[in-house]
Amino acid sequence: MAAALSLKCAVCGREYAPDAVAYTCPACGPVGTLEVLYDYTALAAHLDRDRLAASRVASMWRYRDLLPLPEDADVPPLRVGMTPLYDAPRLAADLGVGAAWVKDDGANPTGSLKDRASALVVARATAMGISTVATASTGNAAAALAGVAASVGMPVVILVPAAAPEAKIAQLLIYGARVVLVEGTYDQAFDLCVDLCERTGWYCRNTGMNPYTAEGKKTVAYEIAEGLGWDVPDVVIVSVGDGNIIAGVHKGFADLHRLGWISRIPRLIGVQAEGSSALARAWQDGTDARSMGPEPAETLADSISAGLPRDRAKALRAVRQTDGAFVAVPDSAILAAIPALARLTGVFAEPAAAAVYAGARRAVEYGFVKPDERVLLLSTGSGLKDVRRAQQAVTGGLRSAADLDSVWQALGSPKAN
Ligand SMILES: *Cc1c(COP(=O)(O)O)cnc(C)c1O
Ligand SMILES: [Zn+2]
Repeated sequence: MAAALSLKCAVCGREYAPDAVAYTCPACGPVGTLEVLYDYTALAAHLDRDRLAASRVASMWRYRDLLPLPEDADVPPLRVGMTPLYDAPRLAADLGVGAAWVKDDGANPTGSLKDRASALVVARATAMGISTVATASTGNAAAALAGVAASVGMPVVILVPAAAPEAKIAQLLIYGARVVLVEGTYDQAFDLCVDLCERTGWYCRNTGMNPYTAEGKKTVAYEIAEGLGWDVPDVVIVSVGDGNIIAGVHKGFADLHRLGWISRIPRLIGVQAEGSSALARAWQDGTDARSMGPEPAETLADSISAGLPRDRAKALRAVRQTDGAFVAVPDSAILAAIPALARLTGVFAEPAAAAVYAGARRAVEYGFVKPDERVLLLSTGSGLKDVRRAQQAVTGGLRSAADLDSVWQALGSPKAN
């Protein structure tokens, strides 16, 4: 419903008319990712946060007044967003903080937060009369695009490196996506998708290139704020690969702050895997996004593996402007975080998502989070996405013969209740 006013480059600050540019800043190239801005004075004058509370729309579209879509645009039927927000007192005690919450975005239809971006991209493609959407990805972004596109019967084309894991490709094929296995790297597939969309006029969802992915993802910040009665946490902890999620979370809180609906923006702490920690190091060294170059990335948390994070400029800004921090955690801590988070909260997260638990522990240890503070951990993807890694994180199971006494003994002869 909201008409975007401009697209602003995160690197040079140039502003463009929304129709003038489709993807990144023409002056800066790929590093210059764009942010969607509105006339906040006009929005504040006719929107009311208390009226929102009465909305019966239980999906991200309850915020469509703050999303860049024509008033009469259809939105995909798949129910994306309004994911559970759990108060987690045992997690708070474990971390040694004042209060803790988990926002479980693994509960989205295709199992990750990426659904928020894909839902907005598909809605925009429909509104613009574009026939087909495409992306390069092996992981959750492609699954989200394939799933949301399937819900409206829109053709989708996915370019993946030929070496991508078969299980991930299966989810795309299940949704009916046309999958092209490119004999090359992810970066080659990414660039080919850009060229393909240029040739065909298809809409390209490539993360950190399409300005509307972060715009869809920002709705998770709206849900956090509304869910806590507009009294936002002191700190929000987010896992980071390309940096598009943390950029979206920052944008969401910044929107609400501009509208006067929240009094401050939480400090954002980004969690990376040690083997894929370009942003953590750039933050530590004070490096500018423009001087970062490609480097190898290796982690079992495949959803946060990124050698040259595509949304690096916005991710660094999200942390620097909110006085937050980056932490890097080893793969061993990420693996151990899967059962730890599940046992403390009941939320089963994939490695990249459970990483926020390992990151939270480290952030407390480093003093980035103080003992009396209120902390929210954003869980970005379901544990069912990567059952193989989960199997590596646990052992156990008690052997028993098939009679009651044996089962009882296997359980250590427990007392009756
Ligand atoms: C994509 C993804 C991330 C990281 O998001 P970026 O925008 O690449 O930083 C984290 N966790 C999960 C589950 C993801 O799918
Ligand atoms: Zn620019």
